[in-house]
Amino acid sequence: MNEVFEKLLKSKFRTKFFLDDKMSQYVLEKGIKKIENDAKDLVSKRIAPKYIPNDGRQTPFKHHPVFIAQHATATCCRKCINKWHKFGLNYELTAIEQDYIVQLIMSWIKNNLN
Ligand SMILES: [Zn+2]
Repeated sequence: MNEVFEKLLKSKFRTKFFLDDKMSQYVLEKGIKKIENDAKDLVSKRIAPKYIPNDGRQTPFKHHPVFIAQHATATCCRKCINKWHKFGLNYELTAIEQDYIVQLIMSWIKNNLN
């Protein structure tokens, strides 16, 4: 995971994402556990399925800290996950793979709280 974070830090696109005060406040108010549950839910519904009709456009750039973290960690869609994290396409992600993605998202959020 550290290796992938080092690579992400070299990406101009991935490093432009940050949690603003409002988003940080939201995380602190809801608590890390709740945000992690949201991350699990969003990953299982929007990222894990075998077929995602709008893959590449399913992750908004606002509304939830998990969405921001997904863009920052290249876990926003299966194409980015394939390129950055080497998981294949066109199959349902395993529980272990989904967990890896959630951990990546949560590490980024914890490291980027204001
Ligand atoms: Zn993507």
